[in-house]
Amino acid sequence: MHYIQDNISYIKNEIKDICRNIGRSPDEIRLIAVTKTINIDRINHSIMEGITDIGENKVQEILEKYDHIHDVKWHLIGHLQKNKVKYIIDKVALIHSLDSISLAQEINKRGQQHGIIMDVLVQVNVANEETKFGIEAETVMDFIAELKSYPSIKVKGLMTIAPYEEEPENVRIYFRKLKNIFDEIKTKDFSHIDMQFLSMGMTNDYRVAIEEGANMIRIGTGIFGARNYR
Ligand SMILES: *Cc1c(COP(=O)(O)O)cnc(C)c1O
Repeated sequence: MHYIQDNISYIKNEIKDICRNIGRSPDEIRLIAVTKTINIDRINHSIMEGITDIGENKVQEILEKYDHIHDVKWHLIGHLQKNKVKYIIDKVALIHSLDSISLAQEINKRGQQHGIIMDVLVQVNVANEETKFGIEAETVMDFIAELKSYPSIKVKGLMTIAPYEEEPENVRIYFRKLKNIFDEIKTKDFSHIDMQFLSMGMTNDYRVAIEEGANMIRIGTGIFGARNYR
C-alpha cells in the first residue's frame, strides 16, 4: 500500500506549492480523504500516513466502518435522507450536505435528543445542475437566515460539487462564485452561523479550488486510486 503514502505526500506537496504561489498558508487547508468503496485496511493505512478526516457519502457505509476506524473525524459528504439522520447524528463531525429545510428540521430534532449542536455546511448547487443536490446560489442567503429557527444546528460554511470538466479551469467560475457568497454571508451578523469552512475541490479540480479560496478539499481517487463500485 505504498501508493497511498506516495499519493498523500504528492497531494500535500501540491497544496504547499499552490499555497506558496498565492500567499496562503498550507495549514489552512484541511484534506479530507474520501473513503467511499474503500475497505477498512486501506482506510486505516491512510490514517497511519497522517489522514485525520475521512468523508463518506452513504450513511450505510459509515455504519459498517464506524467501529473499525478510530481517531478520525467523520464527514458526511453525500445527500442525506431524513430518515437516516438518527443513525449518524452522534457519529459525524460535520455534515457537508444540508440542502433543505426539512432536513434541517430533522437534524435539529435529533441533535436536541442527543444534546448536541450539529455542525453543518450548506450545499450549494452553484452551476445549477439538474442532477445535483444543493440550494441554488440565489437563495442561499435566505436559506441560511431561515436556519436561525433550529438551535441545534450550527452553520459552519458552504460546500459545493463542481460540474465534472476535463479541464479544471472551466470550473473556476463556480468556485469563485461560491467564495463570493461565502464572504458575503460572513459579513452578516447571524448568531447561528460561524463561517469557517469552504468545502470545494476534488481530485480533478482541487488545485483551482484552493486558488479560489477552498479550505476543505475532498479527495478520493487521488489518494486511493480509481474506485471499484462492484
Ligand atoms: C466521491 C466524492 C468526492 C471525491 O471524488 P474524487 O474525484 O474521487 O476525489 C468528493 N466529494 C464528494 C461529495 C464525493 O461524493
